[in-house]
Amino acid sequence: MAAKNRTWEDKVRKVVPYVAGEQPKDANIIKLNTNENPYPPSEKVREAMEQLAEEADLLRLYPDMDATALVDALAQYLHVDSSRIFVGVGSDDVLALSFMTFFCGGGTLLFPDITYSFYKVWASLYRIPYRTVPLTQDMRIDPAAFKAGPEDGELAGIILPNPNAPTGVEAPQADIEAILQANPACVVIVDEAYVDFGAESALPLLEKYDNLLIVQTFSKSRSMAGLRIGYAVGNEKLIGFLKDVKFSFNSYTLGRPSILMGTASVKDEVYFRETTEKIAKTREWFSGELDRLGFVHPQSRANFVFAKHPAHTGEELLQKLRANGILVRHFAQPGISDYLRITIGRPEQMKEVVRVLEEIL
Ligand code: PMP
Repeated sequence: MAAKNRTWEDKVRKVVPYVAGEQPKDANIIKLNTNENPYPPSEKVREAMEQLAEEADLLRLYPDMDATALVDALAQYLHVDSSRIFVGVGSDDVLALSFMTFFCGGGTLLFPDITYSFYKVWASLYRIPYRTVPLTQDMRIDPAAFKAGPEDGELAGIILPNPNAPTGVEAPQADIEAILQANPACVVIVDEAYVDFGAESALPLLEKYDNLLIVQTFSKSRSMAGLRIGYAVGNEKLIGFLKDVKFSFNSYTLGRPSILMGTASVKDEVYFRETTEKIAKTREWFSGELDRLGFVHPQSRANFVFAKHPAHTGEELLQKLRANGILVRHFAQPGISDYLRITIGRPEQMKEVVRVLEEIL
């Protein structure tokens, strides 16, 4: 078509969006499909909500664009300087801005072939060429495979979740360090959305590697998916670049409620430990039950388990669980289409899952 005949539609940036897990309207469903926390947020968060109601008049004003109270609380909790923390509207916001900030400088982006499916979407949105790196047979990350191949030219960056999603498999810190050591010339993002359920954080590596960015979220371990808070930790220079892009895009991201309630959550470390430990304990019990029922699954360090049964397809189990009021996540992707990702709920919910699975099998 001649250029002058192009329509407005020809000029649109067309993308294939990320498909999030379903949010059903039926409250009776046992909802184990989006890795939400089955316990309520801290009581301190509810108290902050009450304070907010009393201060409703303040909603007239724009919020603190630096979210200082929240950033300072996180700095204290993580034992780093406030200048090393960046907050956003869920870790998806932080990750999307990070792709824009760190990965658009040319070269190829690397991430695992089985991983958080949003990475591919952001890469396409920002037109970042990418190459997926296969996991090993037992669903581990092979650190040696995370380096530029002859087809890549240079690397635009590397991103991987730890523990990985949807497998739940944790990469040991030595493997993360090996990736950092081999790739000093690009930013390496470790997405620690699920780190609080018993995995080791890469935080200590920040002292040694100035190209490391760690991203965490309030959506899972802090039971606050509904509020949308995420954050990144890195050296001051890296965080500075991220802030420059954010303030070139949308200055006021976190609203007053998020700042107030997020800060309250961070200050209740006792409750945070209690609930994350409870979920890890339920996960261990549930993993044992899956073994007993003949399921195959890698060891999970997250708040979900990724499992398949040799005698049933993933699609079949998904539908039968659904017919029994249990919602889990299934990915129609080659290699993992027989697996179900089952979020860890309360013990009584997981007992019901086991009872239904026994019936189905
Ligand atoms: N990273 C990973 C690996 C995830 O599974 C999720 C949850 N979908 C996120 C990031 C984003 O979580 P949120 O935006 O709720 O912080």
